Amino acid sequence: MLVERLLTTYLKYKNARLLRFNEFEELSAPVPEVMREYLLYIHIPFCEELCPYCSFNRFKLETDLARRYFRALGKEIGMYKDRGFDFSSVYVGGGTPTVLPDEMAELLMRLKTDFSIREISLETNPNHLDDNIVEKMKQAGVNRLSVGVQSFNDDLLRQMERYHKYGSGEEIKNRLSSLMGFFDTLNVDMIFNFPTQTAEMLEFDLETIKEIQADQVTFYPLMVSDHTKFELAKRFGKISYDQEKMFYDKISDSLESGYSCGTAWCFSRKKSMIDEYVVDYDEYIGVGSGSFGYVRGACFANTFSLKDYIGLVDNSMLPLMAKRRFKLKDQASYYLMMKLFSTSMDIDVANYRFNGQFESLLFKELNALRLYGALTKKGNRLILSKKGRYMWVIMMREFFTGVNNFRDICRSVIKQGS
Ligand code: SF4
Repeated sequence: MLVERLLTTYLKYKNARLLRFNEFEELSAPVPEVMREYLLYIHIPFCEELCPYCSFNRFKLETDLARRYFRALGKEIGMYKDRGFDFSSVYVGGGTPTVLPDEMAELLMRLKTDFSIREISLETNPNHLDDNIVEKMKQAGVNRLSVGVQSFNDDLLRQMERYHKYGSGEEIKNRLSSLMGFFDTLNVDMIFNFPTQTAEMLEFDLETIKEIQADQVTFYPLMVSDHTKFELAKRFGKISYDQEKMFYDKISDSLESGYSCGTAWCFSRKKSMIDEYVVDYDEYIGVGSGSFGYVRGACFANTFSLKDYIGLVDNSMLPLMAKRRFKLKDQASYYLMMKLFSTSMDIDVANYRFNGQFESLLFKELNALRLYGALTKKGNRLILSKKGRYMWVIMMREFFTGVNNFRDICRSVIKQGS
């Protein structure tokens, strides 16, 4: 427990430093490398209603504004095409990407014409699992649908203000069950370590996942920005990590048979895309308000203001607001964190990517991880142990918490809803 606490504190400091965008660099836009495969991340920042624990860049849906936003998205993606980018994979996140299904389907169809798209993953909420929407998404080429469920426990759903929006746990379970097999992969997004969640509630969730034979399930630890943490604590009590490991062990033990690890917190019955596209794609472009991209060792962030986003794109300008170039060692650390999140990685590929310097750049870190028992080396592969998998859950939790803090800072400087 002490090691986990120390690691959490250390990572908070390290991620805050890594994600500090205040050393504004010249905002030169990303340039593609020849022969490199890129993923396109599309952010749809609209939701019909806003959840209290959510730290994403999201706004309450206004239909006219959202239609203008979809027009701007098409134009922004076109600017990357003009710069020479091609995309083999698309991930659509939010917000709720299916708030305007016709617009979404039209955009995806256009992408398939303009780029070498092989796979599309899209997030949605349980109230959008009706025949009309899922049929449209399938026809538009969606291979993987990821549904934000969080829990099947009605008390928790009420506390999260999801029960009245998305229905009871039983209703959600039945809708999911009827859709298994419709997409290549149907992923169920769940949460663990919510302040009022008990071990019994989690066991019930795990049993339900197995009962419906979900293709894939992603169990996220609660990870909120410091501001949201404060708001949540006022409503549900202090957020503690004391039970997190117990919850995580229950999840990995329960899903050990029948599922394999896509990442330390994503469990799949078959090989499939995963929510953490950063694991499979070293480099990606983010489009839409509040999205992030990572190209040639530099992280790019788009404006969080909808008004500025649409205005800039209407004037044929990329809506970038910040850029941070990582030092070589930070690039190697980021690469290690993302690749090993999938629980194993090829060390030869890593060395090739870093001109033979990967192991020497991270000599101390790799040795410390080996000594702690977090990883082993077999042939050319680094493999996370069970102990290491939980360690990576902490690392990724703190990384995304750092991203959420950055989002809060960006949102605080724009007017609400602007
Ligand atoms: S949790 Fe999902 S549905 Fe709720 S506000 Fe956040 S993005 Fe929207």
